[in-house]
Order: sequence, then structure tokens, then C-alpha cells
Amino acid sequence: MHRPLVVGNWKMHGSRPANAELLAALLAARPFAADVAVCVPYVYLHETAAALAGSELRWGAQDVSEHAQGAYTGEISAAMLAECGCRYVLVGHSERRAGHAESDMLVARKAQVALARGVTPIVCVGETLAERDAGHTEAVVKRQLSAVIHQLGHCAAEMVVAYEPVWAIGTGRTATPEQAQAVHAVLRAQLQAATGRAASMTILYGGSVKPDNAALLFAQPDIDGGLVGGASLQAADFIAICRAAG
Ligand code: PEP
Repeated sequence: MHRPLVVGNWKMHGSRPANAELLAALLAARPFAADVAVCVPYVYLHETAAALAGSELRWGAQDVSEHAQGAYTGEISAAMLAECGCRYVLVGHSERRAGHAESDMLVARKAQVALARGVTPIVCVGETLAERDAGHTEAVVKRQLSAVIHQLGHCAAEMVVAYEPVWAIGTGRTATPEQAQAVHAVLRAQLQAATGRAASMTILYGGSVKPDNAALLFAQPDIDGGLVGGASLQAADFIAICRAAG
């Protein structure tokens, strides 16, 4: 059994003083039995790296360009993330799939460029409420993951997967541990068929993870930790969730 992983997704939140306070609280709360990371807005990567350097806490970004370099105004490359010491980058978050029309193929290419630069992609998959109600949950998440598996080929086992039902993100409505486990088992089986190494891969659950529901979610056999949005902005909540994972 590998160490659990808890990743905070700050989304477009934060300020220099608030970040400094939050990171100081995380540092003071160590050690954690889980691996812990924060995915911060690009502009805060440098100071996050400075604050966390020398500790075992990790940091990452929330998106990456599919391009290596060039005339792509406003985009950030995987090489730049690597230069900032990013261990992780989120790809395919539902807020990008929906709000920026990111396709399964684009998400797969982003995962590939990240891995090529040594930045582990956290590949987010998840169904909408309409898709769940129509009984399409399994087909949707398998389709989303399949695109990445094919793009990464023999490196597929290097990614982290995050199951994030869209209807549970930022809504306060969490998947039950049983609902989440059922999808995680499907994803693990798909990864096993593709890589033969799924037991060592990390599959996170995300969607309104809070201190009071984290332990039950993390107790499920195929849930290896969490991707935490809103609750990662409150030091006490995030620390409690990190402790629930270890
Ligand atoms: C997320 O943004 O990845 C997320 C899971 O958000 P929240 O925890 O706020 O639902």
C-alpha cells in the first residue's frame, strides 16, 4: 500500500499574505502520514516554492499548455512548471473541460507534455449530474481516461487520476463513499488492463471533501487520497483532511 496523497486546488483564490499564512500553517502541522501538495495559481508558484523548499510538502499548477513554446500568448509550458519545481499539474479539471471547451484529446496531450518534463499530471475525470442520471457514469469516465491512457502509452502508470463527479464540485454535495468507491474500482480496473501496475497508482477522490467526510471516503479500498478545492483554503480544514488520509 503506497502513501496516500492529498492535493489542495486553490483555484483562482489567494493573495500573498493569505498564502503565506496558509503555507506557514501547513508547515507547522507537519509531519503528515500522507503526501501533501498544493496546486496554486501560476503567479504564486515562485513564492510557494520558496516557502516550501526544504520541506516534504509539494506544489504544482492547475493547468499547462499543450505546446512546448512559441507564440501562445498567456499560456504556460510544462518546462516552465518544471523550472518552478512543480511536482504536479492538474489537467482536465471539469472547470476547464466545461468553461474552456477542453476535449479528451487536449487533456491527454497536456498530460503527455507534463510527463515529458517530469511533472506528474493529475488527470481529472468525472460525470455531470445529467450523465449520472442517464446511467452513463462509467462510460464517461472510461472514455475520458482512455484518451489519456492511449496518449501516454507505456508511461500511463506515471499519472495520478482524480475522480471528480462534476455535481459534487463546489456544491457541498459529496458522493457517498460507496458511489465514489464504485467508480474508483472501475478506473483501477481500466488502469490495470492498460498498465498492469494499477495497484501502485494513485486515484484521488475530489468533490466537496471536508473534514467530516474525508475519513470515510479515504477508508474505501480504491480511494488513495483527495483532491480538495474549497476546504484547502482553510488551514484547519485542510490539515484535518490531510490527517484523515494518513
Ligand atoms: C476541485 O476543485 O477540484 C474540488 C474538488 O473542489 P471542492 O472540494 O470545492 O468541491
